[in-house]
Amino acid sequence: MPVLMIKVRSREREQFIDITAEVARRLRETGAREGICHLYVQHTTAALTINESADPDVARDMLHVLRRLAPRHDADYRHGEGNTDAHVKSSLMGTSLSIPFTDGELLLGRWQGIFLCEFDGPRERQVVMMIR
Ligand code: ZN
Repeated sequence: MPVLMIKVRSREREQFIDITAEVARRLRETGAREGICHLYVQHTTAALTINESADPDVARDMLHVLRRLAPRHDADYRHGEGNTDAHVKSSLMGTSLSIPFTDGELLLGRWQGIFLCEFDGPRERQVVMMIR
């Protein structure tokens, strides 16, 4: 199976972007019936996660908690680029996901959605998608 690239454009510095529909569409286009859909971001200040997509307040609240865990500014940060918080949030959330699928459909739970987590936008991100 080929490696697919999904481009995602963020609009804010921090943002959870629901990419479920795009991943499902690209999966259907491959014609694959069952297997594992691997998703991966080649970024150090973005991440991927699966969580509730029905209520947008869940993503908002998760960002709220992440900001508490890794504040934007801290006098002890040393990284000269000034985005240490974004690096920490990326590692906390993780850069890859593996989702099983059958009959060409992702086996996501009823309330689950796939999110690209932007922590240092706005910018264009790329999600690597591979089917096995
Ligand atoms: Zn940096």
